[in-house]
Amino acid sequence: MVKAISVLGCTGSIGRQTLAAAEHIGVRVAALTAQRKIDLLEQQARKYRPQFCAVYDEQAAKAFKTAVADTDIRVGVGMEGLLEAATLAESDCVVTAVSGAVGLKPTLAAIAEKKRIALANKETLVCAGELVMRAAKEKGAEIVPVDSEHSAIFQCLMGRKPGELHRILLTGSGGPFRGKARSELESVTPEQAVAHPNWSMGAKISVDSATMMNKGLEFVEAMHLFGVTPDDITVVIHPQSVIHSMVELCDGTVIAQLGVPDMGLPIQLALTYPERMPSMFEHLDFYHLRDLTFEAPDYEKTPCLKLAMDCARTGGTAPCVMSAANEVAVHMFLRRELGYNRIYDAAAGAVEKVGVVQHADLDTILEADAAARAYVLETFGK
Ligand code: MG
Repeated sequence: MVKAISVLGCTGSIGRQTLAAAEHIGVRVAALTAQRKIDLLEQQARKYRPQFCAVYDEQAAKAFKTAVADTDIRVGVGMEGLLEAATLAESDCVVTAVSGAVGLKPTLAAIAEKKRIALANKETLVCAGELVMRAAKEKGAEIVPVDSEHSAIFQCLMGRKPGELHRILLTGSGGPFRGKARSELESVTPEQAVAHPNWSMGAKISVDSATMMNKGLEFVEAMHLFGVTPDDITVVIHPQSVIHSMVELCDGTVIAQLGVPDMGLPIQLALTYPERMPSMFEHLDFYHLRDLTFEAPDYEKTPCLKLAMDCARTGGTAPCVMSAANEVAVHMFLRRELGYNRIYDAAAGAVEKVGVVQHADLDTILEADAAARAYVLETFGK
């Protein structure tokens, strides 16, 4: 179990739930970082008393420094601030809850210091899975997934021998538009896309869940986290989100992880692992569970999922390009600058236009990421 944490992205949905879990189980908060929501950051800082806070946005950092001038909290700025939070001596675990590719460098820096990574940032493994997993192995840094699906797979694989796994069954609810054709979704608004039936999450990941790009990103992540190929992962639509994923063993046995759909559970486990502690969440009530149903994905209706699986097979920088283009497109959609169906067009267009490099180093990955973003802004911007 960890003693002190740095929470990167503390004002987001996962960040807030991480602080609640840390308080519940008695883990100290050593550092907090936020992009620009300094009012909430200040509340959190005064409550949890970290020794260090960083604000990514320069202007907001100045305002925050003034706001906490009466405390002894040190304040950092920008990527440098994030890196300091990620490598702080007091922390033995870094919770990477930032949204987007900004999480990559701090994660690598924390791995270099052999800290446990409670991984909640998808882009880290999607963009640089090879690099990150190799660094973690070399340094002996643990990566414990926070995403509910990967946490489920991680739990199902605890104590298994390498040869026992036959395939991973990655479950997904199908999101709010399950079964709808692309032509029916042309005029979807951000409000409709963000309203997920089972999970309460941040805006970006909620849109990704609606397009099922989220499941595609999780597919790529699972490959890297568990060292398997695309052929070893099957996506299963399970609308109730009670089973959070499963593994099928070589003898045909299937092991599933079930629980209430609340991110607080996998967050707590990432902090207590390999121990478990009582949580503040409801337990499943099997007498009142509705039917658990399963179906195959309809790739015609979820082209983003198909695109991500194709990029997983292509490998190299393809998933990074797709993810970066998607990130820009989703933010444009949320600002009503881009139609819902154009999110797929932007991601697929970037993959086609920006070349793929295999076995890329960090600089090449960041170049591919930037090229994808530039492509979307140029082609789909106003
Ligand atoms: Mg998930």
